[in-house]
Amino acid sequence: MPVLISGCLLGIECRYDGGHSRVEEIIEKAQEMQFIPICPEQLGGLPTPRAPSNIVKGDGKGVLAGHARVINTLGEDVTEAFIKGAQESLKLARLTGAKKAILKNKSPSCGLNTPYCETDTGYGLGVTAALLLSAGIEIIEINPEKKNKDLIENLRLL
Ligand code: SF4
Repeated sequence: MPVLISGCLLGIECRYDGGHSRVEEIIEKAQEMQFIPICPEQLGGLPTPRAPSNIVKGDGKGVLAGHARVINTLGEDVTEAFIKGAQESLKLARLTGAKKAILKNKSPSCGLNTPYCETDTGYGLGVTAALLLSAGIEIIEINPEKKNKDLIENLRLL
């Protein structure tokens, strides 16, 4: 079964700072899984490295609804790139038949609970996470800074 995955979790150097967020437990699964690596921010046409971004006046859901924007730390509006990256990621899910996605936490693109947004709780959906969820794709959120026992169990379920 194909599964979308944030490329940075596989060690791809696609993060805003030119680094990666490699997770060894995921790397160990790479031989037996049909991973489809995505980096929505690169797929949207943004460079690497790039200025980090925040969602203002909402979260990823708000961006897709047209009332929130994505602004980088240089003050540039990168909303259209974030939306395009989300759409291209969904396109890959549809092309491959992927019904699940393993995405990195915190990111304003990939995160299920990103702090880089403006909501009442202080957390919200990243733009790609919001679009994939709305298309019925299940998301498993990974925190690379944690030794997450559930992570292995979740991967076994795929
Ligand atoms: S979290 Fe998502 S957008 Fe950010 S570097 Fe990783 S794959 Fe790219």
